[in-house]
Amino acid sequence: MDFDLFVIGGGSAGVRCARIAAGHGARVGVAESRFWGGTCVNVGCVPKKFMVMAAEYGAAVSDARGFGWTITREAHDWATLIAAKDKEIARLNTIYRQLLNKSGAKIFDTKAVFIDSHTLDVGGQRLTAEKIVIATGGYPTGLDIPGAEHAVISDDIFVLKTMPQRVAVVGSGYIAVEFAGIFAGLGAQTHLVYRQPLPLRGFDEDLRGMLAEELAGNNVTLHPGTTPAAITADGEGKQLSLSNGEVLGVDLVFFATGRAPNTKGLNLEAAGVRTGAKGEIPVGPDFATNIANIYALGDVTDRLNLTPVATAEGHALADSLFGGHPRGVSLDNVPTAVFSIPPIATVGVTEAQAPAGSKIFVSKFTPMRHTISGRSRKTLMKLIVDANTDKVLGAHMLGEDAPEIMQGLAVAITAGATKADFDRTIGIHPTAAEEFVTMRTQTR
Ligand code: FAD
Ligand code: NDP
Repeated sequence: MDFDLFVIGGGSAGVRCARIAAGHGARVGVAESRFWGGTCVNVGCVPKKFMVMAAEYGAAVSDARGFGWTITREAHDWATLIAAKDKEIARLNTIYRQLLNKSGAKIFDTKAVFIDSHTLDVGGQRLTAEKIVIATGGYPTGLDIPGAEHAVISDDIFVLKTMPQRVAVVGSGYIAVEFAGIFAGLGAQTHLVYRQPLPLRGFDEDLRGMLAEELAGNNVTLHPGTTPAAITADGEGKQLSLSNGEVLGVDLVFFATGRAPNTKGLNLEAAGVRTGAKGEIPVGPDFATNIANIYALGDVTDRLNLTPVATAEGHALADSLFGGHPRGVSLDNVPTAVFSIPPIATVGVTEAQAPAGSKIFVSKFTPMRHTISGRSRKTLMKLIVDANTDKVLGAHMLGEDAPEIMQGLAVAITAGATKADFDRTIGIHPTAAEEFVTMRTQTR
């Protein structure tokens, strides 16, 4: 065999797996057809967060006036933001490549396709490997409606030449609510079109309700319970017809309607690897597919499609195969954040998922900054506690710094902290985070 391990895909999961396996002494090859670092670095988490930061500055400038600053808010320059973002992403691409090179893995800037269960076509070269990892991620999917060709998907947003002034975002998952905040924050007239009564299906109901209020308060026009019917385009822009008969005149229609696993074109049939209904690759706790020497990691398995999950899986598989330390990755209590404006962060169960009779603590308040900034904004915090064991089963927050605060709470909850542990923890004052250790009155 040419390699002990060949990794297809140089994203979050693939890079980590290849690098750690090479560090354990394995002969590793890794192919990436598009961009090192994958979705997260190039068209996901990283550029998205820069855009969220850009959007937050606009409101922060206005907030500063309440604190005595004389600042005039000038127009935002989209081209400057995109150039700065591109520069940083280029730097990160180089780092990812260098990390792999230094680890001793052999890198291939090309596509890899199966010939059989041990053989790959890697950019025209026939290469063999004892074990093969599929870490090909996912791709954004749009809606199949008349005029769908006039809409864009998330990959397109990061390379827009100009900032659209009127935007319709379709969907209300992570990407939709994040980009609704970005466009509204940068000054676009923004619509959010979604089929549920509230955004972010699956998140805690209190958070969903308050997110809808905050989006509306931040100049996002909400269209709940609606689906797009058709798009037309003319010299004036695009017209998005909705199921309720309304027509939105916009410059950009953005489908943020989910992602699908990237398995088409891999010739998986030649290797005998089975896929599920969406094209996802089912794996066991050891990441093995139905073919014993072939593994799958990250978004292509379509379980929890988050970067830290993908990297944890890559690391665990490399340790298991070549480090003498077999282990899986627990998908319980995985914390997650939605970088809406303001952001949401959550760990553990929602109130709806909690056992009947769980104790619910909710706190809603105006953050200190906004008692003076003049901006109407609220923070929501919520704890869900098991009535029998006193264990904290879930923590949820909507408000500034929620993702930063939740990471620490996730450690406590993973370690099995009880409400009594939260209560005996001394707060840090004055912060919003201290509210999590001072909630004494049970709400429900
Ligand atoms: P990917 O990162 O997608 O990597 C797969 C790689 O495989 C790609 O680079 C692809 O080019 C390559 N590839 C595919 N086929 C082949 C082939 N045949 N040969 C060679 N190479 C191939 N997650 C978070 O945790 N936090 C966030 O804030 C966040 N924000 C996001 C924002 C957006 C807009 C999007 C789209 C996603 C976001 N995510 C976020 C999700 C996160 O990006 C993914 O969960 C993560 O990138 C998955 O890693 P992966 O390695 O499984 O796949
Ligand atoms: P999501 O699955 O989160 O959301 C998809 C949205 O599209 C939902 O609101 C869904 O509605 C809607 N939708 C799907 N099909 C249709 C349809 N036919 N008609 C109308 N609406 C439809 O996907 P995203 O694209 O937002 O993100 C993909 C994944 O990437 C996320 O699930 C997450 O795992 C990851 N991600 C993580 C981020 C983070 O960690 N901050 C940020 C961005 C992405 P409904 O709810 O009714 O099904």
